[in-house]
Amino acid sequence: MRRVMLLTTTTGYQTRAFVEAAGKLGLDVVFGTDRCHVLDDPWQDGALALKFQNPEESAAKVVEHARSRPVHAIVALGDCTPPTAARAAAVLELPYHPPETSDICRNKHRSRLRLAECGLRVPRFARFPIEADPSSILKQHHPAIALPCVLKPMALSASRGVIRADTAQEFISAFKRIRSLLRSPDIQVARQETSNYLQIEEYIEGPEIAVEGVVERGRLKVLAIFDKPDPLVGPFFEESIYVTPSRLALGTQAAVVETLRRAVEALGLYHGPLHAELRISDEGPWILEVAARCIGGLCSRALRFRVPYKDEAISLEELILRLALGENIGEIQRENAASGVMMIPVPGAGILQRVEGTDDARRTPGIEEIIITARPGERLVPLPEGSSYPGFIFARGPTPEFVEQALRHAHQKLRFDLSPSLPVL
Ligand code: ADP
Ligand code: CA
Repeated sequence: MRRVMLLTTTTGYQTRAFVEAAGKLGLDVVFGTDRCHVLDDPWQDGALALKFQNPEESAAKVVEHARSRPVHAIVALGDCTPPTAARAAAVLELPYHPPETSDICRNKHRSRLRLAECGLRVPRFARFPIEADPSSILKQHHPAIALPCVLKPMALSASRGVIRADTAQEFISAFKRIRSLLRSPDIQVARQETSNYLQIEEYIEGPEIAVEGVVERGRLKVLAIFDKPDPLVGPFFEESIYVTPSRLALGTQAAVVETLRRAVEALGLYHGPLHAELRISDEGPWILEVAARCIGGLCSRALRFRVPYKDEAISLEELILRLALGENIGEIQRENAASGVMMIPVPGAGILQRVEGTDDARRTPGIEEIIITARPGERLVPLPEGSSYPGFIFARGPTPEFVEQALRHAHQKLRFDLSPSLPVL
Protein backbone atom coordinates (compact mmCIF):
# COMPACT_ATOMS: atom_id res chain seq x y z
CA MET A 1 0.00 0.00 0.00
CA ARG A 2 1.26 3.47 -0.86
CA ARG A 3 1.63 5.85 2.04
CA VAL A 4 1.51 9.63 2.33
CA MET A 5 3.05 11.63 5.16
CA LEU A 6 0.87 14.65 6.00
CA LEU A 7 2.72 17.33 7.93
CA THR A 8 0.22 19.51 9.73
CA THR A 9 -0.15 21.72 12.77
CA THR A 10 -3.93 21.41 13.03
CA THR A 11 -6.69 18.85 12.95
CA GLY A 12 -8.75 21.36 10.94
CA TYR A 13 -10.81 21.20 7.78
CA GLN A 14 -7.88 21.12 5.44
CA THR A 15 -6.34 18.10 7.14
CA ARG A 16 -9.67 16.30 6.91
CA ALA A 17 -9.99 17.15 3.22
CA PHE A 18 -6.58 15.59 2.59
CA VAL A 19 -7.44 12.49 4.59
CA GLU A 20 -10.62 12.12 2.56
CA ALA A 21 -8.77 12.52 -0.73
CA ALA A 22 -6.13 10.02 0.41
CA GLY A 23 -8.91 7.54 1.21
CA LYS A 24 -10.28 7.93 -2.30
CA LEU A 25 -6.86 7.22 -3.77
CA GLY A 26 -6.41 4.20 -1.49
CA LEU A 27 -3.47 5.77 0.33
CA ASP A 28 -2.43 5.07 3.87
CA VAL A 29 -1.94 8.33 5.81
CA VAL A 30 0.62 8.98 8.50
CA PHE A 31 0.62 12.34 10.28
CA GLY A 32 3.57 14.38 11.38
CA THR A 33 2.43 17.03 13.82
CA ASP A 34 3.56 19.47 16.48
CA ARG A 35 0.17 19.68 18.15
CA CYS A 36 1.55 18.21 21.27
CA HIS A 37 5.14 18.10 22.42
CA VAL A 38 4.64 15.86 25.40
CA LEU A 39 2.84 12.81 24.13
CA ASP A 40 4.49 10.61 21.59
CA ASP A 41 1.22 9.77 19.94
CA PRO A 42 -0.85 12.97 20.17
CA TRP A 43 -3.94 11.74 18.34
CA GLN A 44 -3.53 8.06 19.19
CA ASP A 45 -3.32 7.47 15.50
CA GLY A 46 0.36 6.70 15.12
CA ALA A 47 1.22 10.35 14.46
CA LEU A 48 4.83 11.36 14.59
CA ALA A 49 5.48 14.16 17.10
CA LEU A 50 7.59 16.86 15.43
CA LYS A 51 8.77 20.39 16.16
CA PHE A 52 8.44 22.39 12.99
CA GLN A 53 10.60 25.25 14.34
CA ASN A 54 13.44 22.78 14.07
CA PRO A 55 13.18 21.43 10.52
CA GLU A 56 16.50 19.48 10.60
CA GLU A 57 15.54 17.49 13.65
CA SER A 58 11.95 16.98 12.46
CA ALA A 59 13.06 15.85 9.02
CA ALA A 60 15.45 13.34 10.61
CA LYS A 61 12.49 11.89 12.53
CA VAL A 62 10.42 11.63 9.35
CA VAL A 63 13.28 9.88 7.58
CA GLU A 64 13.80 7.50 10.48
CA HIS A 65 10.09 6.69 10.56
CA ALA A 66 10.07 6.09 6.80
CA ARG A 67 12.75 3.40 7.17
CA SER A 68 10.27 1.03 8.78
CA ARG A 69 7.12 2.35 7.13
CA PRO A 70 8.04 3.58 3.64
CA VAL A 71 6.59 6.94 2.59
CA HIS A 72 5.72 7.54 -1.06
CA ALA A 73 4.69 11.17 -0.88
CA ILE A 74 5.01 14.12 1.51
CA VAL A 75 2.40 16.87 1.73
CA ALA A 76 2.96 19.89 3.98
CA LEU A 77 -0.03 21.92 5.15
CA GLY A 78 0.11 25.46 6.44
CA ASP A 79 3.03 27.87 6.58
CA CYS A 80 5.49 26.29 8.99
CA THR A 81 5.72 22.71 7.72
CA PRO A 82 7.38 23.06 4.27
CA PRO A 83 10.96 23.45 5.62
CA THR A 84 10.62 20.06 7.34
CA ALA A 85 8.97 18.48 4.31
CA ALA A 86 11.72 19.74 2.01
CA ARG A 87 14.54 18.33 4.15
CA ALA A 88 12.86 14.95 4.53
CA ALA A 89 11.94 14.77 0.84
CA ALA A 90 15.54 15.47 -0.15
CA VAL A 91 16.78 12.46 1.84
CA LEU A 92 13.91 10.19 0.83
CA GLU A 93 14.35 11.21 -2.82
CA LEU A 94 10.76 12.33 -3.16
CA PRO A 95 10.05 15.25 -5.48
CA TYR A 96 9.51 18.48 -3.49
CA HIS A 97 10.83 22.02 -3.25
CA PRO A 98 14.49 22.37 -2.18
CA PRO A 99 15.05 23.18 1.54
CA GLU A 100 16.47 26.64 0.80
CA THR A 101 13.41 27.53 -1.29
CA SER A 102 11.03 26.40 1.44
CA ASP A 103 12.91 28.55 3.95
CA ILE A 104 12.93 31.61 1.68
CA CYS A 105 9.21 31.36 0.87
CA ARG A 106 8.39 31.41 4.58
CA ASN A 107 10.24 34.63 5.13
CA LYS A 108 8.70 37.89 3.89
CA HIS A 109 12.11 39.58 3.86
CA ARG A 110 14.21 36.89 2.20
CA SER A 111 11.61 36.23 -0.48
CA ARG A 112 11.38 39.93 -1.35
CA LEU A 113 15.18 40.12 -1.53
CA ARG A 114 15.43 37.12 -3.82
CA LEU A 115 12.65 38.29 -6.14
CA ALA A 116 14.14 41.78 -6.35
CA GLU A 117 17.63 40.37 -7.08
CA CYS A 118 16.16 38.40 -9.94
CA GLY A 119 14.63 41.53 -11.43
CA LEU A 120 11.02 40.92 -10.47
CA ARG A 121 8.75 43.83 -9.64
CA VAL A 122 8.25 43.90 -5.86
CA PRO A 123 7.41 46.82 -3.58
CA ARG A 124 10.41 48.54 -1.98
CA PHE A 125 10.84 47.12 1.50
CA ALA A 126 12.82 47.34 4.72
CA ARG A 127 12.83 45.33 7.93
CA PHE A 128 13.04 46.70 11.46
CA PRO A 129 13.11 45.19 14.96
CA ILE A 130 9.91 45.86 16.90
CA GLU A 131 11.89 47.74 19.57
CA ALA A 132 12.92 50.37 17.00
CA ASP A 133 11.56 53.88 17.42
CA PRO A 134 9.05 54.63 14.65
CA SER A 135 9.60 58.40 14.68
CA SER A 136 13.32 58.02 14.10
CA ILE A 137 12.66 55.48 11.33
CA LEU A 138 10.54 58.12 9.62
CA LYS A 139 13.37 60.64 9.91
CA GLN A 140 15.79 58.28 8.11
CA HIS A 141 13.90 58.86 4.84
CA HIS A 142 14.42 55.25 3.84
CA PRO A 143 13.27 54.73 0.20
CA ALA A 144 10.78 52.03 1.30
CA ILE A 145 9.09 54.44 3.64
CA ALA A 146 7.56 57.01 1.39
CA LEU A 147 3.95 57.39 2.54
CA PRO A 148 1.56 55.72 1.98
CA CYS A 149 3.20 52.50 3.09
CA VAL A 150 2.23 49.15 4.58
CA LEU A 151 3.55 47.85 7.91
CA LYS A 152 3.41 44.10 8.48
CA PRO A 153 4.64 41.63 11.06
CA MET A 154 7.13 39.12 9.63
CA ALA A 155 5.81 36.16 11.55
CA LEU A 156 2.05 36.27 10.97
CA SER A 157 -0.21 35.38 8.07
CA ALA A 158 -3.73 35.84 6.71
CA SER A 159 -3.27 39.64 6.73
CA ARG A 160 -3.09 39.64 10.52
CA GLY A 161 -1.33 42.77 11.74
CA VAL A 162 -1.00 44.26 8.25
CA ILE A 163 -1.72 48.02 8.38
CA ARG A 164 -1.56 50.83 5.85
CA ALA A 165 -0.29 54.24 6.97
CA ASP A 166 -0.87 57.45 5.02
CA THR A 167 0.56 59.95 7.50
CA ALA A 168 3.44 60.10 9.97
CA GLN A 169 0.99 59.82 12.83
CA GLU A 170 -0.68 56.73 11.36
CA PHE A 171 2.75 55.24 10.77
CA ILE A 172 3.75 55.66 14.40
CA SER A 173 0.50 54.27 15.80
CA ALA A 174 0.51 51.32 13.34
CA PHE A 175 4.08 50.49 14.39
CA LYS A 176 3.12 50.50 18.05
CA ARG A 177 -0.01 48.49 17.42
CA ILE A 178 1.94 45.74 15.63
CA ARG A 179 4.55 45.83 18.40
CA SER A 180 1.92 45.08 21.06
CA LEU A 181 0.32 42.40 18.91
CA LEU A 182 3.67 40.68 18.47
CA ARG A 183 4.37 40.88 22.19
CA SER A 184 1.08 39.17 23.06
CA PRO A 185 1.57 35.78 24.71
CA ASP A 186 -0.15 33.70 22.00
CA ILE A 187 2.36 34.95 19.45
CA GLN A 188 5.47 34.87 21.62
CA VAL A 189 4.70 31.26 22.52
CA ALA A 190 5.34 30.21 18.91
CA ARG A 191 8.90 31.50 19.47
CA GLN A 192 9.75 32.21 15.89
CA GLU A 193 12.88 34.28 15.31
CA THR A 194 10.83 36.47 12.94
CA SER A 195 8.34 37.40 15.72
CA ASN A 196 10.48 40.36 16.68
CA TYR A 197 10.53 42.07 13.30
CA LEU A 198 8.20 43.98 11.13
CA GLN A 199 8.52 44.86 7.49
CA ILE A 200 7.63 48.17 5.93
CA GLU A 201 6.75 48.32 2.26
CA GLU A 202 5.82 50.80 -0.39
CA TYR A 203 2.03 50.73 -0.91
CA ILE A 204 1.11 49.31 -4.32
CA GLU A 205 -2.11 50.65 -5.79
CA GLY A 206 -4.35 48.47 -7.96
CA PRO A 207 -6.65 45.45 -7.98
CA GLU A 208 -5.48 42.32 -6.21
CA ILE A 209 -5.66 38.70 -7.30
CA ALA A 210 -4.77 35.34 -5.81
CA VAL A 211 -3.30 32.56 -7.90
CA GLU A 212 -3.55 28.88 -7.10
CA GLY A 213 -1.05 26.70 -8.87
CA VAL A 214 1.29 23.78 -8.72
CA VAL A 215 4.87 23.36 -9.79
CA GLU A 216 5.56 20.05 -11.50
CA ARG A 217 9.29 19.35 -11.66
CA GLY A 218 10.08 23.03 -12.06
CA ARG A 219 7.23 23.83 -14.45
CA LEU A 220 4.44 26.12 -13.24
CA LYS A 221 0.85 25.09 -13.88
CA VAL A 222 -1.69 27.76 -12.98
CA LEU A 223 -4.90 26.15 -11.74
CA ALA A 224 -6.97 29.28 -11.09
CA ILE A 225 -6.68 33.04 -10.98
CA PHE A 226 -9.07 34.49 -8.39
CA ASP A 227 -10.20 38.10 -8.57
CA LYS A 228 -10.75 39.83 -5.23
CA PRO A 229 -13.59 42.16 -6.20
CA ASP A 230 -13.84 44.00 -2.87
CA PRO A 231 -11.43 46.93 -2.73
CA LEU A 232 -8.42 46.20 -0.52
CA VAL A 233 -7.20 49.70 0.23
CA GLY A 234 -6.60 49.50 3.97
CA PRO A 235 -6.01 50.52 6.65
CA PHE A 236 -6.60 46.77 7.24
CA PHE A 237 -6.79 44.14 4.51
CA GLU A 238 -9.56 41.74 5.35
CA GLU A 239 -10.02 39.00 2.76
CA SER A 240 -13.56 38.49 1.57
CA ILE A 241 -14.64 37.40 -1.92
CA TYR A 242 -12.53 35.28 -4.26
CA VAL A 243 -14.01 34.58 -7.71
CA THR A 244 -12.62 32.60 -10.62
CA PRO A 245 -12.24 32.77 -13.60
CA SER A 246 -10.67 36.19 -13.47
CA ARG A 247 -12.32 39.08 -15.30
CA LEU A 248 -8.94 40.71 -15.97
CA ALA A 249 -8.05 41.21 -19.63
CA LEU A 250 -6.45 38.09 -21.12
CA GLY A 251 -3.23 40.02 -21.77
CA THR A 252 -3.03 40.96 -18.09
CA GLN A 253 -3.65 37.35 -17.06
CA ALA A 254 -0.85 36.24 -19.39
CA ALA A 255 1.44 38.82 -17.76
CA VAL A 256 0.50 37.43 -14.32
CA VAL A 257 1.35 33.89 -15.39
CA GLU A 258 4.65 35.03 -16.92
CA THR A 259 5.54 36.98 -13.74
CA LEU A 260 4.83 33.93 -11.61
CA ARG A 261 6.81 31.69 -13.93
CA ARG A 262 9.81 33.95 -13.35
CA ALA A 263 9.13 33.96 -9.60
CA VAL A 264 9.09 30.15 -9.53
CA GLU A 265 12.48 30.16 -11.22
CA ALA A 266 13.89 32.91 -8.97
CA LEU A 267 12.77 31.17 -5.77
CA GLY A 268 13.74 27.71 -7.01
CA LEU A 269 10.31 26.15 -6.47
CA TYR A 270 10.45 22.63 -7.88
CA HIS A 271 7.55 20.35 -7.01
CA GLY A 272 4.41 21.01 -5.00
CA PRO A 273 1.55 23.47 -4.55
CA LEU A 274 1.87 27.22 -4.76
CA HIS A 275 -0.37 30.05 -3.61
CA ALA A 276 0.44 33.60 -4.68
CA GLU A 277 -0.95 37.09 -4.25
CA LEU A 278 -0.33 39.89 -6.71
CA ARG A 279 -1.45 43.44 -7.39
CA ILE A 280 -1.88 44.88 -10.86
CA SER A 281 -0.82 48.51 -11.27
CA ASP A 282 -0.51 50.53 -14.47
CA GLU A 283 3.03 49.17 -14.73
CA GLY A 284 1.91 45.52 -14.59
CA PRO A 285 1.79 42.72 -11.98
CA TRP A 286 3.57 43.09 -8.62
CA ILE A 287 4.20 40.05 -6.47
CA LEU A 288 3.04 40.46 -2.88
CA GLU A 289 3.53 36.87 -1.79
CA VAL A 290 4.42 33.42 -3.12
CA ALA A 291 3.84 30.61 -0.63
CA ALA A 292 4.88 26.97 -1.06
CA ARG A 293 1.48 25.69 0.06
CA CYS A 294 -2.08 25.56 -1.22
CA ILE A 295 -4.95 27.90 -0.38
CA GLY A 296 -5.89 27.57 3.29
CA GLY A 297 -8.87 26.52 5.36
CA LEU A 298 -12.05 25.60 3.59
CA CYS A 299 -11.43 27.82 0.55
CA SER A 300 -10.21 24.92 -1.58
CA ARG A 301 -13.84 23.84 -1.90
CA ALA A 302 -14.21 26.61 -4.45
CA LEU A 303 -12.00 24.55 -6.77
CA ARG A 304 -12.97 21.38 -8.62
CA PHE A 305 -11.02 19.75 -11.38
CA ARG A 306 -11.72 17.58 -14.40
CA VAL A 307 -9.58 14.58 -15.24
CA PRO A 308 -9.67 13.58 -18.93
CA TYR A 309 -12.20 10.79 -19.66
CA LYS A 310 -13.52 10.79 -16.09
CA ASP A 311 -16.99 12.02 -15.17
CA GLU A 312 -16.37 12.76 -11.54
CA ALA A 313 -14.60 15.97 -10.56
CA ILE A 314 -11.66 15.82 -8.17
CA SER A 315 -10.70 18.13 -5.33
CA LEU A 316 -7.61 20.31 -5.00
CA GLU A 317 -6.43 17.97 -2.25
CA GLU A 318 -6.65 14.95 -4.55
CA LEU A 319 -4.78 16.84 -7.24
CA ILE A 320 -2.00 17.75 -4.79
CA LEU A 321 -1.73 14.16 -3.54
CA ARG A 322 -1.45 12.88 -7.11
CA LEU A 323 1.23 15.46 -7.80
CA ALA A 324 3.12 14.46 -4.64
CA LEU A 325 3.00 10.81 -5.75
CA GLY A 326 4.69 11.85 -8.98
CA GLU A 327 1.64 11.28 -11.19
CA ASN A 328 1.38 13.39 -14.31
CA ILE A 329 -1.26 16.02 -13.69
CA GLY A 330 -0.63 18.00 -16.89
CA GLU A 331 -4.07 17.31 -18.35
CA ILE A 332 -6.11 18.08 -15.27
CA GLN A 333 -8.07 21.33 -15.64
CA ARG A 334 -10.39 23.36 -13.46
CA GLU A 335 -14.10 22.78 -14.22
CA ASN A 336 -15.87 25.18 -16.61
CA ALA A 337 -18.24 26.80 -14.11
CA ALA A 338 -17.44 30.11 -12.47
CA SER A 339 -16.89 29.62 -8.77
CA GLY A 340 -16.29 31.72 -5.70
CA VAL A 341 -15.96 31.83 -1.97
CA MET A 342 -16.57 34.55 0.58
CA MET A 343 -14.49 34.44 3.71
CA ILE A 344 -17.18 36.04 5.85
CA PRO A 345 -15.81 39.27 7.31
CA VAL A 346 -15.65 39.41 11.10
CA PRO A 347 -18.88 41.28 11.94
CA GLY A 348 -17.42 43.07 14.97
CA ALA A 349 -15.69 42.50 18.26
CA GLY A 350 -17.56 40.46 20.84
CA ILE A 351 -18.85 37.07 21.87
CA LEU A 352 -20.85 35.32 19.19
CA GLN A 353 -24.35 34.52 20.43
CA ARG A 354 -26.02 33.18 17.32
CA VAL A 355 -26.11 33.45 13.56
CA GLU A 356 -29.48 33.98 11.94
CA GLY A 357 -30.66 33.84 8.35
CA THR A 358 -28.47 30.95 7.22
CA ASP A 359 -31.38 28.90 5.83
CA ASP A 360 -32.64 31.86 3.91
CA ALA A 361 -29.13 32.67 2.68
CA ARG A 362 -28.66 29.05 1.53
CA ARG A 363 -31.68 29.43 -0.74
CA THR A 364 -30.02 32.22 -2.71
CA PRO A 365 -29.62 31.06 -6.33
CA GLY A 366 -26.05 29.98 -7.00
CA ILE A 367 -25.21 29.30 -3.36
CA GLU A 368 -23.86 25.79 -2.81
CA GLU A 369 -22.82 25.84 0.79
CA ILE A 370 -22.63 28.09 3.83
CA ILE A 371 -20.41 26.92 6.63
CA ILE A 372 -20.36 28.86 9.88
CA THR A 373 -17.18 27.80 11.62
CA ALA A 374 -17.40 30.12 14.64
CA ARG A 375 -19.24 28.59 17.60
CA PRO A 376 -21.67 30.35 19.94
CA GLY A 377 -19.62 31.61 22.87
CA GLU A 378 -16.57 32.17 20.70
CA ARG A 379 -14.82 35.53 20.89
CA LEU A 380 -14.62 37.30 17.53
CA VAL A 381 -11.72 39.67 17.03
CA PRO A 382 -11.55 41.86 13.92
CA LEU A 383 -8.33 42.69 12.09
CA PRO A 384 -5.64 43.73 12.60
CA GLU A 385 -5.38 41.76 15.88
CA GLY A 386 -7.82 38.98 15.00
CA SER A 387 -7.16 36.10 12.73
CA SER A 388 -10.04 33.89 11.73
CA TYR A 389 -13.20 34.27 9.69
CA PRO A 390 -16.50 33.24 11.27
CA GLY A 391 -17.41 31.20 8.20
CA PHE A 392 -17.46 30.69 4.46
CA ILE A 393 -20.01 31.01 1.66
CA PHE A 394 -19.55 29.08 -1.59
CA ALA A 395 -21.23 29.76 -4.93
CA ARG A 396 -21.08 28.43 -8.47
CA GLY A 397 -22.72 29.62 -11.65
CA PRO A 398 -22.38 30.48 -15.30
CA THR A 399 -20.34 33.69 -14.88
CA PRO A 400 -18.08 35.35 -12.31
CA GLU A 401 -20.56 38.27 -12.10
CA PHE A 402 -23.35 35.86 -11.16
CA VAL A 403 -21.18 34.17 -8.55
CA GLU A 404 -20.10 37.46 -7.00
CA GLN A 405 -23.70 38.67 -6.73
CA ALA A 406 -24.83 35.34 -5.24
CA LEU A 407 -22.17 35.63 -2.54
CA ARG A 408 -23.14 39.23 -1.74
CA HIS A 409 -26.87 38.45 -1.61
CA ALA A 410 -26.37 35.46 0.64
CA HIS A 411 -24.11 37.44 2.94
CA GLN A 412 -26.69 40.21 3.29
CA LYS A 413 -29.15 37.68 4.68
CA LEU A 414 -26.85 36.62 7.51
CA ARG A 415 -27.13 38.30 10.90
CA PHE A 416 -24.48 37.82 13.55
CA ASP A 417 -25.61 38.49 17.12
CA LEU A 418 -22.70 39.52 19.28
CA SER A 419 -22.58 40.41 22.93
CA PRO A 420 -19.81 42.64 24.20
CA SER A 421 -16.86 40.67 25.48
CA LEU A 422 -15.94 41.29 29.08
CA PRO A 423 -12.55 42.84 29.62
CA VAL A 424 -9.96 40.36 30.85
CA LEU A 425 -9.03 41.31 34.42
P1 ADP B 1 0.08 37.90 5.08
O1 ADP B 1 1.28 37.07 4.99
O2 ADP B 1 -0.36 38.20 6.47
O3 ADP B 1 -1.05 37.40 4.23
P2 ADP B 1 0.59 39.88 3.03
O4 ADP B 1 1.93 40.39 2.77
O5 ADP B 1 0.05 38.90 2.06
O6 ADP B 1 0.52 39.34 4.52
O7 ADP B 1 -0.40 41.14 3.13
C1 ADP B 1 -1.79 40.99 3.37
C2 ADP B 1 -2.58 41.95 2.48
O8 ADP B 1 -2.17 43.31 2.71
C3 ADP B 1 -2.35 41.73 0.99
O9 ADP B 1 -3.21 40.72 0.51
C4 ADP B 1 -2.66 43.10 0.43
O10 ADP B 1 -4.04 43.31 0.28
C5 ADP B 1 -2.14 44.03 1.50
N1 ADP B 1 -0.74 44.41 1.22
C6 ADP B 1 0.36 43.83 1.72
N2 ADP B 1 1.49 44.42 1.25
C7 ADP B 1 1.09 45.40 0.42
C8 ADP B 1 1.76 46.39 -0.37
N3 ADP B 1 3.09 46.49 -0.37
N4 ADP B 1 1.01 47.24 -1.10
C9 ADP B 1 -0.34 47.17 -1.08
N5 ADP B 1 -1.02 46.27 -0.35
C10 ADP B 1 -0.35 45.39 0.39
CA1 CA C 1 -1.19 37.00 2.10
